[in-house]
Amino acid sequence: MADYDYDLFVIGAGSGGVRASRIAASHGARVAVAEEYRIGGTCVIRGCVPKKMLVYGSHFAEELQDAANYGWTVEGMKFDWAVLRDTVLRDVTRIETAYTATLSNNQVEQYLERATITGPHGVKLASGKEFTAKLILIATGAWPVMPDFPGNEHCITSNEVFHLPEFPKRVVVQGAGYIAMEFAGIFNALGSRVTVINRSDVILRGYDEQLRDRLLQITMARGIEYKFNCPITKVEKQEDGSLLVHAGKLDPIPADVVLIATGRKPNVAGLGLESAGIELGAKGEIPVDKHGRTSTESVFAIGDVTDRIQLTPVAIREGQAFADTQFGGNPHTVDYECVPSAVFSQPPLAAVGLTEGEARNAYGNVKVYSSDFRPMRNVFAERHERGLYKLVVDANTDRILGIHMIGPDSPEILQAAAIAVKAGLKKSDFDATIALHPSMAEELVLMR
Ligand SMILES: Cc1cc2nc3c(=O)[nH]c(=O)nc-3n(C[C@H](O)[C@H](O)[C@H](O)COP(=O)(O)OP(=O)(O)OC[C@H]3O[C@@H](n4cnc5c(N)ncnc54)[C@H](O)[C@@H]3O)c2cc1C
Repeated sequence: MADYDYDLFVIGAGSGGVRASRIAASHGARVAVAEEYRIGGTCVIRGCVPKKMLVYGSHFAEELQDAANYGWTVEGMKFDWAVLRDTVLRDVTRIETAYTATLSNNQVEQYLERATITGPHGVKLASGKEFTAKLILIATGAWPVMPDFPGNEHCITSNEVFHLPEFPKRVVVQGAGYIAMEFAGIFNALGSRVTVINRSDVILRGYDEQLRDRLLQITMARGIEYKFNCPITKVEKQEDGSLLVHAGKLDPIPADVVLIATGRKPNVAGLGLESAGIELGAKGEIPVDKHGRTSTESVFAIGDVTDRIQLTPVAIREGQAFADTQFGGNPHTVDYECVPSAVFSQPPLAAVGLTEGEARNAYGNVKVYSSDFRPMRNVFAERHERGLYKLVVDANTDRILGIHMIGPDSPEILQAAAIAVKAGLKKSDFDATIALHPSMAEELVLMR
């Protein structure tokens, strides 16, 4: 081991890389990590965290509007994008500093530059420094896909959206996955005119169909326009700096910002994988075994670059399992069953386990319980939006196979309910639990 500069060299200090570095170092390994942008990675710097802060910021529009029915008069209401943007960016820097300190406190050597692989045990930094390591961990994440059409250089992705110099009055979003739906919701709530353009007529593929329909209805009623089956073909920059979006046979749509959110591909370009004989999968991902090992014995990969489940808590679990297994004498793997997920759209949507369709395919005999209700806070605010919760149950065993929810705070409620699904609890266990009243979550134990 002494022949190598480090026991572990990690490429990428995002959700997975930071966890793996810190834990491996705490197990006594000599660890270095290279980061080409900012410590914290996508989630902290330009993903989950700043996105959620924008969601919080945009909710005030609705809450201030609803406040009148609760007796509040708010005069001179006005929104300032620069204040929200700068508050978010400041907090991102605060978290980045905290992550950096955690790595330093754990004696993880940090190199703030790009790294490439030069062989099964070799890493080279952009500055030209070269190191050897017993193990190399690739945790380089994923990168937004930019479709190829004339004028795509005028469009932005989620990487840039947090830095907009001006608040856009007109936003076109291409895509209908979770990132597209979240930003459509944020800008719509903040007062932009939002048009979502998608190449198919399906939003949020993979989520329960009834919930997706409900989100579509509510967001259309809130003013988001959808243009389906027509991907963008061209974007032109006008003399006044604004954009003109051409899509299918639609009349050109004027916009101030065109946000492309059509997926994220594994970040492997120019990484030097071939020098270590690492093979790629069909979607450009790095295939790994259950311990994160690539086709090369000494090189491992975790997180989005492996394109399994592209979520922060999954990357963190993979980093932890890798470090414990390789350096902590505690081999274990990640269990990918029942990973909860949410879409912070407005209203938000959350799910764990099988959808009704998946359960019917896998189990045949399935019972579905649902509650379609108007949350009390919407009633008071004279808001007509309804929540929808669904329990998907194996009719033979009574076991809950999936929970699907759309409505205020559904991600907060679902995280607790996901424990029950993961633990294999039955519908009768939910029925035996007395409701907590008045709450939205009580619907979960009142479905008959
Ligand atoms: C807009 C948006 C919203 C999201 N919201 C959520 C959410 O609400 N919940 C959730 O769970 N997930 C969310 N995600 C996904 C989440 O951010 C990722 O799943 C997670 O960050 C993956 O972690 P990772 O460690 O694999 O990669 P990352 O966190 O992406 O880290 C990879 C790091 O590697 C660095 N890097 C790449 N190549 C090199 C190189 N050659 N040398 C040095 N450094 C390199 C990058 O700069 C980056 O910092 C969101 C993502 C986006 C884009």
